[in-house]
Amino acid sequence: MKLVFDGSKLVLQEGSSGEYKVKACGICGTDIAILKGSYKPRKTPIVLGHEFCVEKDGKLFVSEINLVDWSCENCKKGEYTHCENRKAIGIDVDGALQDRIDLPSYLLHEVPDGLSAAEAALAEPVASVLRMLQLLDPKPYESALILGDGALGLISCALLKRFGLDVSVKGKHEQRLKRARLFGARVESENRKYDIVVEATGKGTLDEALSHTKARGRIAIKSTHGSSVCFDYTKAVVNEVQIVPSRCAPFYLWDKALKLVKELRLGELVMVYPFRNYEEAISNTLERKIVKPVLVF
Ligand SMILES: [Zn+2]
Repeated sequence: MKLVFDGSKLVLQEGSSGEYKVKACGICGTDIAILKGSYKPRKTPIVLGHEFCVEKDGKLFVSEINLVDWSCENCKKGEYTHCENRKAIGIDVDGALQDRIDLPSYLLHEVPDGLSAAEAALAEPVASVLRMLQLLDPKPYESALILGDGALGLISCALLKRFGLDVSVKGKHEQRLKRARLFGARVESENRKYDIVVEATGKGTLDEALSHTKARGRIAIKSTHGSSVCFDYTKAVVNEVQIVPSRCAPFYLWDKALKLVKELRLGELVMVYPFRNYEEAISNTLERKIVKPVLVF
C-alpha cells in the first residue's frame, strides 16, 4: 500500500516492497507545499513522506533523509547533507508514505525505549531545529521570538527554552499558544524587539521578522514553502541583521533529537491517524486544527 502524489493529487495504490516496515510517517509543511503546488518535487509520480520511523527485527529506527554519494567536494569536507548529488527521501525519490521501504544503513538511528513510532517520527523536525540552533549559536542571555505556532514554531519554542533563552511566540491559534505557554514561552502581544527571531510561519514573513529584530540581531529562516519572498533589504543592511538559514541535521544531532522528543514530551504535539485516514489528517492540518499529523500503519 502506498500513497502516490501524481503531480496534482494523492492516490492510494497497492504494491510496496522493501527491507524495512514503515511504522509511522509525519506530514510536514514541505509535503503540504508540494500538494499545493508551490514546491516542485524532482519527479512525479512520487511517494511523499520524510519524517518517519521504520521497524526491522523488532527494533525501531528513524532515518535521515539525504541519499548521498560520499565522493563530491561537500561530502569530502564532511558536509554530506549538502552532497552535490544528494537525493532527499520523499522529495527527490520515493518516501515513506507506504508500508515498506528500502534504506541504506548509514541513514538509520535506533529509537530508544519509551518512545512510540509516532513520537519517534518527530526526530526529523526536532533534528532540523537542532541544526538551526547549531548555526544560530544562541546564548542563554538572549531573547528570542518565534513567529508561527505550527510544529516547527513550537519545537523551536521548547528547544530555545531548553537553551535558557527568554522565549516569546507570536501566532494565531489559541490552543497552540497554550501549548507554547506550557513549554515556558510568553505570548508576544506588543511589538517588542528581540536578539533572535525564528521565522516559522511557513510563509517567509521576513519583513515582520525584521520589524521584531534588534540591530545586529539574527533571523533564523526555516520554511521551505517554495515561493519567492520580498523583504526590506535596506532595513536588514542598515540594522546589520544576519539571516541564518538551516535545513537538515547531520548524523550527530539525531540521537540528541530522539532524547529531546522524550525529555521535552514533544510527542504531545502529535495527532495520530491510521494510514487510510490520510485525507482527514491533511484537511485537519490545512484547517490548522492539529499541529503535527502522523500516519501509522
Ligand atoms: Zn556528495
